[in-house]
Amino acid sequence: MLRRIDEEKRMLSSLERLARNQALFREVNERIKEVADPVDGAVDFLCECSDPDCTVNTPLTLAEYEAVRSDPGWFFVEPGHEQLEIEHVVSESERFTVVEKRLAEGFLEQTDPRA
Ligand SMILES: [Zn+2]
Repeated sequence: MLRRIDEEKRMLSSLERLARNQALFREVNERIKEVADPVDGAVDFLCECSDPDCTVNTPLTLAEYEAVRSDPGWFFVEPGHEQLEIEHVVSESERFTVVEKRLAEGFLEQTDPRA
């Protein structure tokens, strides 16, 4: 019984860490957008997947970026970088996949740089 709670706690804290990484990438992308100089209409944003070591550039137009940012639970990732245990796919295109967090919703709203 106690062990189960312990395991749940550990799982939750690692999920929180994943959500925090993603929130951090979102902060970085807000800065990229501020200084963006679109080439052929697209800007090289940072993939917003849960992997803290991911440094893949994902090109989005500013309109596409704004559409993702319209929901605080949405993130765009390089196709294949989605983690289906903690997020589900909202939409897919050739260049990027939009995912929505299943967990830590309160956390994502609290850390929304536009809140
Ligand atoms: Zn990634």
